[in-house]
Amino acid sequence: VTSKLPHTGTTIFTVMSALAQEVGAINLSQGFPDYDCPPELVAQVCEAMQRGQNQYAPMAGLIELREQIAQKVERLYGATYNPDTEVTVTAGGTQAIFTAISAVIHPNDEVIIFEPAYDSYAPTIRLMGGVVKSLELEPPNYRIPWDMVRRLITNRTRMIILNTPQNPTATILHQEDIDQLVALVKNQDIMILSDEVYEHLVYDGNRHQSMALHPELRDRSFITVSFGKLFHNTGWKLGYCLAPAKLMQEFRKIHQYLVFSVNTPMQAGIAAYLKDENTYLGLASFFQQKRDHFRAGLEQTRFKLLPCEGSYFQCVSYGHMSSEKDTDLAIRLTKEFKVASIPVSVFYNRGTDHHILRFCFAKRQETLDNAVERLIKV
Ligand code: PMP
Ligand code: GLN
Repeated sequence: VTSKLPHTGTTIFTVMSALAQEVGAINLSQGFPDYDCPPELVAQVCEAMQRGQNQYAPMAGLIELREQIAQKVERLYGATYNPDTEVTVTAGGTQAIFTAISAVIHPNDEVIIFEPAYDSYAPTIRLMGGVVKSLELEPPNYRIPWDMVRRLITNRTRMIILNTPQNPTATILHQEDIDQLVALVKNQDIMILSDEVYEHLVYDGNRHQSMALHPELRDRSFITVSFGKLFHNTGWKLGYCLAPAKLMQEFRKIHQYLVFSVNTPMQAGIAAYLKDENTYLGLASFFQQKRDHFRAGLEQTRFKLLPCEGSYFQCVSYGHMSSEKDTDLAIRLTKEFKVASIPVSVFYNRGTDHHILRFCFAKRQETLDNAVERLIKV
């Protein structure tokens, strides 16, 4: 067989979680909570199953869930999305991203991504025959140099992929970025894929800059979101995509043959649970507390902390301690110190190594404390 993705291996999340399990390490690598999702939500799903909601959902998702999603977006960002034509329920953020890219990217279309970037974007673009134009951002602040983005644009640029809050850098887009972006795409035929899976995990009183807040960006954007981050149930693989009707129409042409529809009882459970906005409005303070606690702990180690404006990831640099490759250090820390992390070089096409590791802090306080205790010895 001729590989369609000859340079793609197994995703780092699988590799590091497997290693953590093999050696019995505390797993701060792959991003998922080590505590359970709300029991009330589980109860809603069970009720839906017992009621007999066990057959195919409509292709675009249960209408009651799409309505709840549209209301949430309206409440948070003042944007109107029509549940019939502009909201689709997906099997998590990953499927939404894949579907959006495959719906609109043709061979030789150029897509701009910012590295370090979440690892699913580039392979998906390449699979469609698209060309990845990556721009490497500089630590520790990883700000987007918009003048350089402008220089990357050609008449083949079809899409820019944004991710705010960003995985793995934990940075967010600010109003200045939005102003630059608006100016950049004005009068250009460029779409935006905005990966907003961490929309609620924005700290220090900052506002999440959803594309839905800005009409001139909304009209050209696919916005992808994951319930796994919202309700601490990454294993449910449920999310959604928002897009203007003309883009959503193309999205659904792929969606209907990729999964057709997503599992019914969990959609029903989430639709019921979402009615109360308090189920998600407290998330920022819930995670900010974890961030602050984990950062205070890490201050006692020799690692240097990078800023964390959002998401549930904390990056640290160690270049002043060792010149070891980050992939080697991540493996050694897992085996010798029993704490697993993600080496940030894997999120670059060129494997650029700034000697930075990413830790996930969506964990119980005692897990974080135990990890810190071990990291102090490094
Ligand atoms: N985008 C980013 C930036 C992510 O971190 C993740 C996974 N945590 C996803 C997309 C995928 O979300 P899901 O697990 O719902 O597929
Ligand atoms: N998004 C999660 C992370 O960055 C993991 C997703 C996955 O395992 N595919 O750790």
